[in-house]
Formats: sequence, structure tokens, C-alpha cells
Amino acid sequence: MNLKHSNDIKAEAKRLGFFTCGIAKATRVSQEVETHLRCWLAEGMNADMEWMNNYLDKRLDPRLLMDGLKSIVSIAMSYVPQKTLPSDEPQIAAYALGLDYHDVVKQKLHQLAAAIYGEENVKTANYRVFVDSGPVLERYWAEQAGLGWVGKNRQLIIPHAGSMFFLGELFLDFETEYDHPITNRCGKCTKCIDHCPTHALSDSRKFDAQLCLSYQTIENRQELSHEAKKHMGKFIYGCDRCQQICPWNRFAEPNHTPEFQPREELLNMTVDKWKKLSVEDYRRLFKGSAVKRVKYKGLMRNISNLFSKFEP
Ligand code: SF4
Ligand code: SF4
Repeated sequence: MNLKHSNDIKAEAKRLGFFTCGIAKATRVSQEVETHLRCWLAEGMNADMEWMNNYLDKRLDPRLLMDGLKSIVSIAMSYVPQKTLPSDEPQIAAYALGLDYHDVVKQKLHQLAAAIYGEENVKTANYRVFVDSGPVLERYWAEQAGLGWVGKNRQLIIPHAGSMFFLGELFLDFETEYDHPITNRCGKCTKCIDHCPTHALSDSRKFDAQLCLSYQTIENRQELSHEAKKHMGKFIYGCDRCQQICPWNRFAEPNHTPEFQPREELLNMTVDKWKKLSVEDYRRLFKGSAVKRVKYKGLMRNISNLFSKFEP
């Protein structure tokens, strides 16, 4: 074992390009979170994302995901873009402007594991990495590891840095020094709730995925809902409104990860070019991108909703 102490692990995480890192003891999630998740699922708030019902036992107790799990390292990596799409052209959620974060963040987490266990031992070491990939409540664990708090917009908010971060977890088989949750600092603010165009957010923390434009434009394989069509505005993939309005994102600093910078071709897209997007254009423009999740057909469905809005 090369790195055993929390401070050394965090220093290495920073060296690898993670914005912040914290460590929590692996336990079952709190009763409050379990009750909330069970009610949320029972009420069908997950829309048709059935996979959220899968492996609920593991989601509630990560120790069932790895024998000997003792510690959960939680990391955050910024995706605040250095360059954005022109504001008068169709928009894509900021997190999807660069290459697919799953691969980039996972690779860095494996590098962190190699630094912890030693290059010579890492192949046989008992650890796991997750990046929005397994049944892991990643915002809960980021909160437990003291990275920030889950705001009313359901994003993890890092004090004085905002919410535009990818999260990832490294499961370790040894104990170390642990961090602790910090106080929720949303206070009386309700800006994200007030600005959500489809009322997907509420003060009671009841997030309704069916109403959310991110769900509608990315996960929904059917027709867009009437509400989505009415409110998606210029967004053709995802929606950033509840993050853009959050006062904590005033502190957001652009990321310097080469893989997360948008391609020039994407920055130069116009309504006209989106309208004429061919399958070949789509494949080239989004090679290795998270936008592949919606597939060509889904993206064109979203784009077609824009035509009337941009026509004279
Ligand atoms: S992503 Fe958009 S639609 Fe979804 S909760 Fe945020 S503001 Fe509302
Ligand atoms: S907009 Fe206000 S209420 Fe919403 S997450 Fe940000 S600070 Fe919290």
C-alpha cells in the first residue's frame, strides 16, 4: 500500500486534476434517504427509468457491491466550459459539450487507485470505481464525504465553486480518516424552483423526472411531452436552467481538462446546420460524446421541435 492516509489520497486526487475529494466511511445510507428514495420510486417519480428500481438493496447499502468495502472516496471534476455555444444558437447541456465523462473520470479514478495501492499491486487490489454507472447514490456519498450539499435543484453544490461537476467514487477495502457532511446552504433561496419552466422541482425535494427537460430530451424514447415542447426553448439536449440560475454557480471557474473542451465544429453549429444534420455528421460531431445516449433519432426529434422557433 502506497497511500493510506486521507490527506495523501486527497493530495494525489488534486494532482490528477480532480477539483476536490473527500472520504466517507462505507455504511448503509441513512433511514431518511432510504425512506425518501422508496417513496420517490413508489410514486413513479422516476418516469420510465426502470433501471432506478434495480439493485435497490445495493443502492441502499454499497457494501453489497464490493466484499470488504470500508471507505468511499468521492471526487468532483469540473465541467464548466471554457467556450460555450453561441447564445442565439441551439444549446446542449454544458456537461455534454466535451468527450464522454464516464471514460475520462473512470480512467483518472483508476490512476488514483494505482497511486494508492501501488502500480505493482493495483491489478490484484480489491477496489471498484463508479462514475454514474452502478447503483450508487453518488450525490449522497459526495455529501457524506463533505464535498458539498444537495441543493434544491438536486445537484451537489460545492461551496464557492457551484454545481457543474462530474462525480465519481472509488471504493476502497481499508479504513482511513473520514470527512463529515457540511451544512446545506440553500437557505431561503428558491431560485431554481421558481425558474424551472416545467415545475419539475419543489421545495419538498420531490423531483419529478417526467417533467424535467433533461429526462424528456435525453432519456425519453417516446414523443416529447407537450410541456417539454413548449418549454425546451433552444435546448436540444438537456437543460441547464436550474444550474445557471443558482447563485453558487457565480463562483464557477472554467475547467482545464482537454477532453472536456468542445470541438470547434460543435461551436460553429448553427440552426441551419442542425436542421440538415445527417447521420454521418452526427457520428463525427459526437464521436466519444455523451450525446450518443440520445441517438441520432432522438436528437433529430429534439431539433425538429426548434424549427418553428427559429423560422422568421
Ligand atoms: S434541468 Fe431544467 S427542467 Fe430539469 S429541473 Fe432543472 S430547470 Fe427544471
Ligand atoms: S438556486 Fe438557490 S435553492 Fe436552488 S440550489 Fe441554488 S442556492 Fe439552492
